[in-house]
Amino acid sequence: MTEKKRNTLQRQLILTAVKELGKHPTAEQVYEYLIKTHPTISKATVYRNLNQMAESGEVSDIGNFHGATHYDHKCHDHYHFICNQCKRIFDIEEEVADIINKLKCKEGFKITSCNVVLNGFCQDCK
Ligand SMILES: [Zn+2]
Ligand SMILES: [Zn+2]
Repeated sequence: MTEKKRNTLQRQLILTAVKELGKHPTAEQVYEYLIKTHPTISKATVYRNLNQMAESGEVSDIGNFHGATHYDHKCHDHYHFICNQCKRIFDIEEEVADIINKLKCKEGFKITSCNVVLNGFCQDCK
């Protein structure tokens, strides 16, 4: 197998893992998930690929919370809510996005990136 082909396969594997893990996994979580079915994959490979994939826009890097970068397979504009207690990260798709879009139009800003994070307690923890 060529180097290029192997890289492509690794990326597909990593992207699938990010999707299947669903809730904004860290590189560590992606690695732990993949190692079960692909014992030859290295931690460095997972970290490096996730980095590159975030740069090329295949996944989005939603920021560093609790000491680790979290990744998201949803690359469209949406925002996040982090529970202070269980540390889960929830997607916010609607209302907040609408407000921000309205602001963009009203102020005429060209926004190139946006990182809105809300903190609080989720339904289970409050
Ligand atoms: Zn919670
Ligand atoms: Zn998300």
